[in-house]
Amino acid sequence: MLKVAKKILEEIEEAGYEAYIVGGFVRDYLLGIPSNDIDICTSATPKELKQIFPDSEVPKDDYGSVILMKKNIHFEITTFRRELVYKNHRQPEKIEYVRELYQDLLRRDFTINAICMDKEGNIIDYLNGKGDLEKRRIVAIGDSDLKLSQDALRILRAVRFATTLDFTLDGALFSSIIQHKTLLRSLSYERKREELDKIFTSSNAKAGIALLIEMGLDVELELPHLANIHYTDSLMAIWAVLDVLDLYPFTANEKDLISSIQEASLCRNLDPFNLYKYGLYVSSVAGEMKGESALEIAKAYNALPIYSRRDIDISGDDISKALGREPGEYLKGIYEDLERAILYHHLENKKEDILKYCVFTYQE
Ligand code: ATP
Ligand code: MG
Repeated sequence: MLKVAKKILEEIEEAGYEAYIVGGFVRDYLLGIPSNDIDICTSATPKELKQIFPDSEVPKDDYGSVILMKKNIHFEITTFRRELVYKNHRQPEKIEYVRELYQDLLRRDFTINAICMDKEGNIIDYLNGKGDLEKRRIVAIGDSDLKLSQDALRILRAVRFATTLDFTLDGALFSSIIQHKTLLRSLSYERKREELDKIFTSSNAKAGIALLIEMGLDVELELPHLANIHYTDSLMAIWAVLDVLDLYPFTANEKDLISSIQEASLCRNLDPFNLYKYGLYVSSVAGEMKGESALEIAKAYNALPIYSRRDIDISGDDISKALGREPGEYLKGIYEDLERAILYHHLENKKEDILKYCVFTYQE
């Protein structure tokens, strides 16, 4: 990965510009954490980059960066810039390309995200990011009040990095977050969800959630049930407890899953019919939310005599013939009855037993 990145830096430099790896990749590299993508910053403008890499792409909604896929690695190459005017406490409305790396580093969020690496692998660290990595703390670049009021997403990014890296928030940043927390309301629910998902799926999620609550961000994020989360392994189970389907964006699949988990969590999860109805995943997630053992639930699930209507050892035709009737809507009701009778072991899943039961119960 690093080799491919260094090659890109070389190509940009051969064309007469400066270029460095920056941001998440360098931070995680120094911490020994693998990364999926690489951010590069450069003195070349997007136009100049396009000449060096004709197959790079310029995203529509962004200005000042190009995307390059090389050997299946996603590179985002961004021109050195200063951000001048911020709009709605989020996007900079005006930027200005600059030719010096230092200027570009000053507009970034935290010192640990402003460490650079050159094509030889040397670390360039104007803002003491490495020192803060060693002290395991998140420190804003420059004035933390200004940083957060310029862009409120930085509030959530700070908590996200504190969670995923298990770092502490520097004292000034911590106070600024509390002071500016109402700005979270100006962010889109999409952006909030992206950051929250990263916090919730971290192995350190418990601490992240505690931090959100400690700073009162749960109120500003409109998540009154955040304190009720005990279970942290399933992201959708967390959103089910948070119960904000009408506020935060979810895909149709996610909505279904969240609703099922909510429904299942109101039921007895070891009940055979509920296990059958909701399936193993939803049942165990809903069970674990209530402190039930996933192992017990899996055992009970594996002991079910049937898992779907298709498993019932009889066809609709067999039933209607035995009853001397034409097939029709009434079979639906019979199947529902059979499911329950078999699941609760009142009836064996054997064709002859089922036929006898149907004739006894349903023959007019
Ligand atoms: P990861 O990719 O692991 O989520 P990252 O730090 O690389 O973390 P990106 O969103 O990829 O995050 O951003 C790349 C770099 O751009 C960051 O390291 C930081 O220097 C800068 N950056 C990103 N978002 C902001 C922001 N909202 N404000 C200031 N600087 C930012
Ligand atoms: Mg990144």
